[in-house]
Amino acid sequence: MHELPITESILKIVLMHAKKNDVRQVMTIHLRVGRLSDLEDDWIQRYFDFLSKGTLAEGAKLKIERTPIMLQCNACTASYEVEVANMGDAVCPGCGGKDSKLISGREYYIKDMEVR
Ligand SMILES: [Zn+2]
Repeated sequence: MHELPITESILKIVLMHAKKNDVRQVMTIHLRVGRLSDLEDDWIQRYFDFLSKGTLAEGAKLKIERTPIMLQCNACTASYEVEVANMGDAVCPGCGGKDSKLISGREYYIKDMEVR
């Protein structure tokens, strides 16, 4: 269960931003979450509903967009996208090398929010 602390930190950032910008209510929050993270959309929304009670963000809808998993080849530094299922035997499209490191797919951040 990683959703609770992550949802808390997302809410904190949203509220900070809302206060700074004289927002009356936060309507929608667009999140980008890496495909590799094990966060469940439903749970993030449920935790968010619970934590945001009585705040400017109460009732806000979370729109979650999954970002692709990107690997970078250790031989030629080309970066390329892979699916979760193919991660184990990913091959660099540039040089055919199999030695790579993860450069994105685990991150989460707030992309945008709609307020009034
Ligand atoms: Zn390569």
